[in-house]
Amino acid sequence: MSKTTISEYSFLERFNTEEKAVEFFEMLRWKGGTTCPSCGGTDTYPHKTRKFYYHCRSPKCRNQFSCKTGTVMQSSKLPVRMWLYAMYKVSIARKGISSLQLAKQLGITQKTSWFMIQRIKEACGNDTDTMLSGIVEIDETYVGGLERNKHESKKLNEGRGVVGKAPVLGIRERGGKVKVKVVEDRRAETLKREIAGIVEKGSIVFTDDWKSYNCLIDSDYEHATVNHSAKEFVRGMASTNGIESVWAVLKRSIIGTYHHVSLKHLHRYVNEAAFRLNEGNVKNKLMDRLEALCCKMVGVTLPYRALTA
Ligand SMILES: [Zn+2]
Repeated sequence: MSKTTISEYSFLERFNTEEKAVEFFEMLRWKGGTTCPSCGGTDTYPHKTRKFYYHCRSPKCRNQFSCKTGTVMQSSKLPVRMWLYAMYKVSIARKGISSLQLAKQLGITQKTSWFMIQRIKEACGNDTDTMLSGIVEIDETYVGGLERNKHESKKLNEGRGVVGKAPVLGIRERGGKVKVKVVEDRRAETLKREIAGIVEKGSIVFTDDWKSYNCLIDSDYEHATVNHSAKEFVRGMASTNGIESVWAVLKRSIIGTYHHVSLKHLHRYVNEAAFRLNEGNVKNKLMDRLEALCCKMVGVTLPYRALTA
């Protein structure tokens, strides 16, 4: 068994105090050199009375902060240990974790656990990776709602789209990472703009024959299409099979665990599925995945009012 695996029992034993959880998170965040999130200064000292807090010594700053400051945990009164446990549960889940389940496990209200989970999902989308390049597959799909539960009159099909769902753009680098993003629509201008922000110029891009992708002809990319309607899934090297397996994971996780996701929050569920796809096999890399998630928590804040507005 890989040494990066950790059972729930061992996890609870290892992080059996708030001190241990804070120390773990601080080490990942600051690598041993406590840094003021406000001014970036490293001249800091522990707060005399507030546990787990530091003072910044810079005369212009004098900020008080903890390891939660400037992360999605910032406005939360819950201990870091609970956050770490929630992150562990998100990391280990194959499809995701429900707020009801987490509430029971932590002994908190479902409302509180829902906010926790939304913030962790927000962090999952904290993507500072470089752009995708090389051979890249691009596709879009519609996600959200549950078509079979909708009244017949609402089942309005508009081509490949469905009312009550949102278009999601998926981009996968062959042998590399996946990026998934909720987009405004699937018109040429929108897709072109989004692709330019994710894929490096000069890459080879494979798409299906949806007309909007004509925007990639004579662009900064080398473009090849796969004709799905003709059941031509693999034409030489050109295929979008890789990205289609991403849709399978995404739809299974959203429908299988969450049953219904409103369009307002959909992008966070998409973030989480992408994180899961990118961080590899759970069994072998659980601690790596947990550490990666901790690092993503930094630099992202999601205030209560933004979640409820
Ligand atoms: Zn400072």
